[in-house]
Amino acid sequence: MNNDTIIKKRIAIFGSTGSIGTQALEVIETNEDKFSVEVLTAQQNDDLLIQQALKFNPNIVVIGDEKKYRKVKDALASTDIKVFTGENALEEVASMDCYDFMLAAIVGFAGLKPTMKAIEIGKAIGLANKETLVVAGDIIMNKAVENKVPVIPVDSEHSAIFQCLIGETRNRIEKVILTASGGPFIGRKPNYLVNVKREHALQHPNWNMGAKISIDSATLMNKGLEMIEAKWLFNLRPEQIQVVIHQQSIIHSMVQFEDGSIKAQMGLPDMKLPIQYALAFPKRLKNNFPRLDFRKVSTLSFEEPDVKTFRNLVLAQEALNKGGNLPCIMNAANEIVVYAFLRNRISFLDMTDAIEKTMQSVTYIGKPTLEEYFESDGEARNFAADLINL
Ligand code: NDP
Ligand code: MG
Repeated sequence: MNNDTIIKKRIAIFGSTGSIGTQALEVIETNEDKFSVEVLTAQQNDDLLIQQALKFNPNIVVIGDEKKYRKVKDALASTDIKVFTGENALEEVASMDCYDFMLAAIVGFAGLKPTMKAIEIGKAIGLANKETLVVAGDIIMNKAVENKVPVIPVDSEHSAIFQCLIGETRNRIEKVILTASGGPFIGRKPNYLVNVKREHALQHPNWNMGAKISIDSATLMNKGLEMIEAKWLFNLRPEQIQVVIHQQSIIHSMVQFEDGSIKAQMGLPDMKLPIQYALAFPKRLKNNFPRLDFRKVSTLSFEEPDVKTFRNLVLAQEALNKGGNLPCIMNAANEIVVYAFLRNRISFLDMTDAIEKTMQSVTYIGKPTLEEYFESDGEARNFAADLINL
């Protein structure tokens, strides 16, 4: 074994076939001297998983859908790559001591359990899956502290805040300012939104992302989830978190300190940068991504979000303030309504109504256990699905 092999960081990408996962593999491909790929996982996309496995030669792949196991196994038969499938495969593999760093890039609640396992065995986490913290942020962050596990944000806003906080450990935060592009429907009112379809909602002006987060960006639920994510990552009180619309997505977020000084992290909107930052932390790696040229930026604009139209922000603020299982309930209902909207089963504005009713109806618990979070998630999913006749 030569020195290069010894110092390579061994990466496990949970959700490797998604928007974040594929961009992470691009970063790794251009830095093969620094990273090796040990684990790749997908739910359905067997073709891309096979292609990625043949290219990056991981130790293990997981295909969630058992019906696809045979195909993946056969395609990789001539390699040493181990293939896992089934309900518990993600948790089993996350518990194996064969990697150094988990990139948590599964979408939705499904990402929680494997991330928890990785933290339990002391693996560093690059966290893209914000739903994990929205659902059970207290338990996750306590476990991370207990096991001395760094949780490095991948979400661009939180990566920005994280970067602004480097060197500031002794200094108090007055507030963080989360920037939001406003999504494809910025400036629109309910009389317009009532007719929008999935195709419109999937067109994000600045970012090219997976389907679920694209809808979350269009409804501004994404920013709501991010407020809760920020609370847990940076140990903030609700009143320390402010959202501002910044359409150009150049300032990725800001931190205001006790002396009133504000730090911002900026750049072109490109998720590869926060992904690379998390993978290589604490180092910055040289790259040839396009650069921001301030001479070509004519305006940076800032405005208050229109919470009368985008009521998801109000619901998320309530979940943030009340805490307990309310963010978990909101997240579950949101996952159900986004699923339904993507299948043209409900309209754009119906999504918020169903989330609100679910939040009002499922029993509130102030300090839930992990099991209670899982129960609340299930209860909220059933309630929301019944409500919209899914
Ligand atoms: P995608 O939908 O593009 O990818 C999701 C990944 O998770 C895929 O690999 C998918 O596999 C896998 N997956 C889906 N469902 C399950 C399941 N039930 N069990 C196990 N694996 C599953 O999502 P994104 O990459 O856009 O987002 C991933 C996470 O990162 C989300 O939490 C999102 O909020 C967050 N994020 C994303 C950003 C972005 O720019 N995309 C920016 C900031 C945060 P398959 O392909 O086989 O379906
Ligand atoms: Mg974000």
